[in-house]
Amino acid sequence: MTERTYRCSNCLEWTVTRDFDVSHLSITCGECDEFARFINDDVFEQYRAFEETPPEHLNWEKLSRAEKFLVSNGVVREGRSIEDFEIEEA
Ligand SMILES: [Zn+2]
Repeated sequence: MTERTYRCSNCLEWTVTRDFDVSHLSITCGECDEFARFINDDVFEQYRAFEETPPEHLNWEKLSRAEKFLVSNGVVREGRSIEDFEIEEA
């Protein structure tokens, strides 16, 4: 069984490993002490790639971090195309 890494979505510093593969966990962080959502590191890698090279058709900078993770999760774990995502203008 492959171990998966999950990263704290609050501080982005703390990681834990688990031997199962889900999109996220909710646990208390050992770094920032928040009961936080821990993001699958595959999803986090995609998030980081989008941060470096934002998708052109999305207003990436305006998205909340949670929305960015949602989009990244859709691309990495659901095989969706970034083109599928349309974010409503507030
Ligand atoms: Zn944390």
